[in-house]
Amino acid sequence: MKKVNLFKKGMMLVPALDLKAQYLSIKEEIDRKIFEIVSSQQFILGQEVEEFEKEITNFCETKYAVGVSSGSDALLISLMALGVQEGDIVATTPFTFFATAGTVARLRATPVFCDIDPKTYNLSPEKLEELLKKRRKNNQKSEIKIVIPVHLYGQSSDMSAILSLSEEYEFKVLSDAAQAIGADYPGEERVWRVCSLGKASIISFYPSKNLGAYGDGGMVVTNDSELSEKLKMLRVHGARNKYFYELIGGNFRLDALQAAILRVKLKYLEGWIKARQEKALLYEQMLIHSGLVERELIIPPVSVYKNRGVKNYHTFHQYVIRARERDKLHGFLRQNGIGAEIYYPLPLHLQPCFSYLGYKQGSFPEAEKAAREVLALPIYPELSIVQQEYVISKIIEFYKECCDFI
Ligand SMILES: *Cc1c(COP(=O)(O)O)cnc(C)c1O
Repeated sequence: MKKVNLFKKGMMLVPALDLKAQYLSIKEEIDRKIFEIVSSQQFILGQEVEEFEKEITNFCETKYAVGVSSGSDALLISLMALGVQEGDIVATTPFTFFATAGTVARLRATPVFCDIDPKTYNLSPEKLEELLKKRRKNNQKSEIKIVIPVHLYGQSSDMSAILSLSEEYEFKVLSDAAQAIGADYPGEERVWRVCSLGKASIISFYPSKNLGAYGDGGMVVTNDSELSEKLKMLRVHGARNKYFYELIGGNFRLDALQAAILRVKLKYLEGWIKARQEKALLYEQMLIHSGLVERELIIPPVSVYKNRGVKNYHTFHQYVIRARERDKLHGFLRQNGIGAEIYYPLPLHLQPCFSYLGYKQGSFPEAEKAAREVLALPIYPELSIVQQEYVISKIIEFYKECCDFI
């Protein structure tokens, strides 16, 4: 196998992720599969997609899975299937990828935001309850129809609190599990796959996600047979039988090539998640050892998750710290060949395109603070200990030089 080049001009390279290394580790299987599909010339839906959907229902512990063209389209088509239309209210977190709320607005429904829990970065159930109470008290005509919790960075949201609110206030829960395939959530009697909870969940197969395609792809999973039928119609323009349209849908199909590639990769996913968790634990140990934690940095409590007895409470799609002088640290790490990234630098309620919603600076202080402080360090299954040591050594060097640390 070709050796990965870690150095450039004496500097170690630690990319945000290394998809080439992953490809090299499964190259033979993938190449064979691609050749098979290309030889068959069967590209649209078909057996590969059906088989992949079946495998996803097993992996996600849901009854149905509908393969679609992307995670964003999975959100759009789910909202369509749930009957979201002009004037409807959909509540979600402002600290997420654009598509979570963008798809709501595209259907001329209104996204309403709700602040995050500063510890998990996920939608705060307390803040959600405040919002629901306030709207009820003000007798606001249009009730919140749907709530979209986002399992950000691969970590499960507080689903039991959100689900009990959904019964009290009669909204449906559509999970954005784009970053959280394989994440678990501890219920009272058993541990659930987080995407099996609520009305439906969406998954993204964007190449950088934990299960990434070689292009775009997504999936909606649900236990509702009627909803799954509707999704299957909507992804082929709304037809149950070809050329006879019951609904107005679109072209939202997952293609056979992507499904075939994802079927190969799905077999490795549990192992890849475990490797990510091990890297996260090592970051934790090294950062605690550095003496920077609590002084300059706040880090995710990886060992706490590990001891909770729920294997995949956090799947570490991203390993995210909060850092003092975040922007300077970010620049310093990038200068030193380290692919640190900011997810996300501007919360959705402050995006220019959503100015019509009437939010302002200060509307959601926790989301705004997180946007100023978070930094994702490189994490992927192939990341080496030497690379992690290099990342940590550069973080230490930064605080020594820039902030009179030690
Ligand atoms: C990636 C992502 C999406 C969109 O997925 P695409 O496949 O890129 O369209 C939606 N929500 C979140 C939280 C994501 O991270």
